[in-house]
This record gives sequence, C-alpha cells and structure tokens, in this order.
Amino acid sequence: MNEFEKIHRYFVDPYSDNERSSTNKPTLKNASLVLGIGDDCAEVLVPDDMSLLVSIDTLVEGVHFIKGTPANLMAERAVAVSISDLAAMGAKPKWLTLALSTSHASSTWWESFSLGLKSALNTYGVQLIGGDTTHSGESGLTTLSLQVHGLAPQHTSLKRSGAKVGDLVFVSGSLGDGAASLAYLNQAQPFDHTDKQKEQKEREFSNYLTNRFYRPAIDIGFAYALREIAHSAIDISDGLLADLGHICDQSQVCAEINEDLLPLSKYVSEHVDKAQAKNWALNGGDDYRLCFTLPQQQRSALGVLEKKFGVACTCIGNIIPCSQNESPVVVSSKNKKPFLLPSAGYQHF
Ligand code: ADP
Ligand code: MG
Repeated sequence: MNEFEKIHRYFVDPYSDNERSSTNKPTLKNASLVLGIGDDCAEVLVPDDMSLLVSIDTLVEGVHFIKGTPANLMAERAVAVSISDLAAMGAKPKWLTLALSTSHASSTWWESFSLGLKSALNTYGVQLIGGDTTHSGESGLTTLSLQVHGLAPQHTSLKRSGAKVGDLVFVSGSLGDGAASLAYLNQAQPFDHTDKQKEQKEREFSNYLTNRFYRPAIDIGFAYALREIAHSAIDISDGLLADLGHICDQSQVCAEINEDLLPLSKYVSEHVDKAQAKNWALNGGDDYRLCFTLPQQQRSALGVLEKKFGVACTCIGNIIPCSQNESPVVVSSKNKKPFLLPSAGYQHF
C-alpha cells in the first residue's frame, strides 16, 4: 500500500461518518468544517465571536512512550495529552491534524493505530481534518505530532497569567496515577508479587495503571465551564510543583500549598507508602488533571460545576505575595515547617 492508499484506508474511510456522528455532541454555533482531508489545506469556519486556540505536541517513541507500545494505545494517549492543552485553557476541542512518521509496514499496526485514533477522537468529539504521513527513515522510530484546534468565546480563555493574590489553588481529580503508571510501565517501581493472595489485586492494579497512562482523564466539559469562574489554569503534565510554578511565574505571584491536602490517588496509595504517593503527586507528571486558581467568592459556583460534570476538586492552598528570593511554591505540612522547592519537572534538554 503506498502513502495515498494508506491515508485513504486508515485516515479517510474510517472517519467518513464523523460529520454525522459529531452532530450528537455539543457543537458550537456556526463552527464547522468547510474542507477536510484531501486538499492541500483543511478549511474551517470560526464564528465571529470565537477565538481559535491552537496547540501542537510531539510524541517520540522511546521518549514519550515505550518502544513497542501497541499502536492503538499510542494513538489514544497522543490524542488525550494534546487535548489536555485545550482543556487547560478552557477551549472546546474541535479539530485535529496529525503528522505521523513511522516505519511500520504491517496492516495490523496501521489498523490498530487507526482504531485507537478513532476511539479517542470520538471520546472528545474531535474531527481529524488533515495531516502528513512519512516514513521515519533509518531510525525506524515512530513519531507523532498532533495539532489540536479548539474554540472559546473571545477574551475568555483560561491563562497561566491570571492568578491573583488571595486566590485559592485547586486541583481536579486525584494525583499520582500518571507517575505511578510510568514507573510501573518502566518497571522502575517494583510492586510486591510475592504474596499469592495479592495476585488478583496486582493484576487489577496493572490494568488500572495501564488504562490511566494511555487514557488519562481530560476534563474538557468542566474546563470549558471553569473559564467563567477561574482566574488561571494549567494542565498537570510536568508535575504539580513545576506546573503551579508556571502559573506563579507568569502571574508574578507565589503559592503556598499544604501537602496534607493533596488528593492522592486512592488506588496508588493502597499500593505504595504515603511518602512515595506524595512525592508522585507533587513531582510526578502525566496526570493531565487541572491545577487552577479561583477567587474565594466563586467557591460555591465551583461546587455546582463539580456536581454537574462529576469532577471532584480539592483546595490545596492559596496564592500569596512573593517575598524576596523565594521559590514560587511553598509547601507546608502538619509535621514539617514550610519548605521551599525549586520548580522541578521533566526537561528535555
Ligand atoms: P501535500 O503533499 O499537499 O502535503 P499529502 O499528500 O501529504 O498532501 O496529503 C494528502 C491529504 O491527506 C492532505 O489533505 C493531508 O492533510 C491528508 N493527510 C496526510 N496524512 C494524514 C494523516 N496522517 N492524517 C490525516 N490526514 C492526512
Ligand atoms: Mg504532505
């Protein structure tokens, strides 16, 4: 199968019913696709009162996912982590373009990739509208670049720069699954397999973590509504401390959080000691939940959104003024004096 046959077989044909099925999903008034896959560009119609928000993410085999990852899971994770950037800014996901570079030739791989992609796009109500397909040459490594396009009413997107002194700091969902799953998939974290009675639990845990890694929860409906009440937001991809640090840097404020209040993943807490779970929640990445700041008076409005979207949020601290030479995030605890942590988080270079 040559390049064009592949594009048709795996990226055009499986999605030909997308226009129809997407009518069941909440759509934005007048936002529509004029031209999808097939021409030199895709063309989309953006309503007058909306802003188009655009973000691109690249995932490299051996860096962002383990070599030999099943193709469907690779596609699902790639879509989820890209969509997460739109959620972080409160944009409604609409369209996606995909640059795929791989040396896989078997139809099984392409079929699996296409199925995973379709499943993820349906989950988020996003349409694949174009891309590029290339052979990855001698390296043989698969690389995916996904550009996502979302819409938000003009001048309402949630930014890192909007936090104000006095805001409350919240996170959505629980933290630690991302780092735990990465440790588990890399086998860096040995789980106890010696006790036979634990075997069933271990299997469940392994399934849970694998699912959380490849299908992280992205709170898109909640995030779109959060735009109206929050001052700032970021998605937790590099670790809470690093990502909250970005909010602080860009808002020129500092934050004090209480580590006893962290919403630790229940599942992870059952399997590792508390210190490890806390460390993963503070410094591990890949949770893709939201960290946001909210003025005190919007607390009850947040409660309404939590119920409406089934997203539980936890207040973990406050935005405070910065005193000189302080790192942006101060962590306090019942048992320890407040301590300062430099922004950590994964860095490629
Ligand atoms: P061009 O040579 O103009 O870059 P291509 O031959 O690369 O066009 O692509 C033909 C059409 O197929 C374009 O509309 C492009 O957007 C689409 N396409 C190519 N690869 C992919 C892909 N991986 N996913 C979705 N659409 C793709
Ligand atoms: Mg091309």
